Amino acid sequence: SDFLTTADPAIAELIQQELHRQQDHLELIASENFTSPAVMAAQGSVLTNKYAEGLPGKRYYGGCEFVDRIEQLAIDRAKQLFGAAHANVQPHSGAQANFAVFLALLQPGDTIMGMDLSHGGHLTHGSPVNVSGKWFNVSDYGVSQETEQLDYDRIRELALKHRPKLLICGYSAYPRVIEFDKFRAIADEIGAYLLADIAHIAGLVATGLHPNPVPYCDVVTTTTHKTLRGPRGGLILTRDADLGKQLDKAVFPGSQGGPLEHVIAGKAVAFGEALKPEFKTYCAHVIENAKAMAAQLQQRQFKIVSGGTDNHLMLVDLRSIDMTGKLADQLVSGVNITANKNTVPFDPASPFVTSGLRLGSPAMTTRGMGTTEFTEIANIIADRLLSPDDETVAQDCRRRVAALCDRFPLYPHLSQPVPA
Ligand code: PLP
Repeated sequence: SDFLTTADPAIAELIQQELHRQQDHLELIASENFTSPAVMAAQGSVLTNKYAEGLPGKRYYGGCEFVDRIEQLAIDRAKQLFGAAHANVQPHSGAQANFAVFLALLQPGDTIMGMDLSHGGHLTHGSPVNVSGKWFNVSDYGVSQETEQLDYDRIRELALKHRPKLLICGYSAYPRVIEFDKFRAIADEIGAYLLADIAHIAGLVATGLHPNPVPYCDVVTTTTHKTLRGPRGGLILTRDADLGKQLDKAVFPGSQGGPLEHVIAGKAVAFGEALKPEFKTYCAHVIENAKAMAAQLQQRQFKIVSGGTDNHLMLVDLRSIDMTGKLADQLVSGVNITANKNTVPFDPASPFVTSGLRLGSPAMTTRGMGTTEFTEIANIIADRLLSPDDETVAQDCRRRVAALCDRFPLYPHLSQPVPA
């Protein structure tokens, strides 16, 4: 805005450059998306000035009459979207949401069981560098080496052996459907709590395009900024209102102070958008587009982990072309495609090098691209990776990326000069 340009030209200029980066690149990071201008307007509002420790109607500060109504709308919409009895919209992020769940349900030294990070699990599900791995006794499960998919019999065996107090499902790099009912049966057998972290697939769950964990899990956590297409943030849901009160206390005062009411307003706006029929159409396109991209990469002889995708993401196993994830990431970056290197299950390479590339469809589907464009994107990636030393190919790929970006503009209103 003009205010920012005048007050802090250095930051204003860098924001402008970031806008152009987002406009000029193909964004294929599976965990990213583009929020609506309405979500951004709510987030960049006077709500950032307000302290509101507590919950709607039960605050430790005065002047909360309007933020109470905003937060209540966010809660009600989240409950409606996911069919939950209780929602807490205050977690600042997905990691904060998971931490609050641990604080509510566990004691240090308890055993938790989630998916191995190198098979697609998340840092907060028991990695040794995260509080979840430092404070708890972690036993993990992976995917089957044969199918590269969840093997519920094997997970059950491991659960019976290690008897975790908390069993975690939901992942950062798993392209297949998660069967929450099977996890429930395993958790019941050992008397464990069951947590589903649906950070990646929340939009697909909200629109009924992926099974809903809420009826099966004690707690469901998610981020709000991936397929759900809201502002960066976290959300906790439960079917059990009493447990909900415990979770509320674990968020505040357990692990956070004042909620970010400007972000909560952004969440409310995004949940409102997600309740509309257009959002279901969007999520259906997200899945169709991912499938089209995976199929074309397979046509071009790339191996896709588990043989395809049911959701918004895929993992390309680059061992089939004898390339590392690190090099592939650099090569696609060089033609203005943003993705990330990622371990594949049973990866022989280190997490800094990896043998995989994770690709997702949510962001470019938001820009309006369909299966034709995603097939072209797969071809651009294949052309680049199959001729890593050919600068003429690289130039041609950059031209094709620019053509796609031009045809599907992002935030055109932000590119207009603002009148003085
Ligand atoms: N849980 C899962 C499954 C994730 O993939 C992520 C983020 O990538 C998170 C939690 C953490 O979210 P945040 O980065 O908002 O802390």
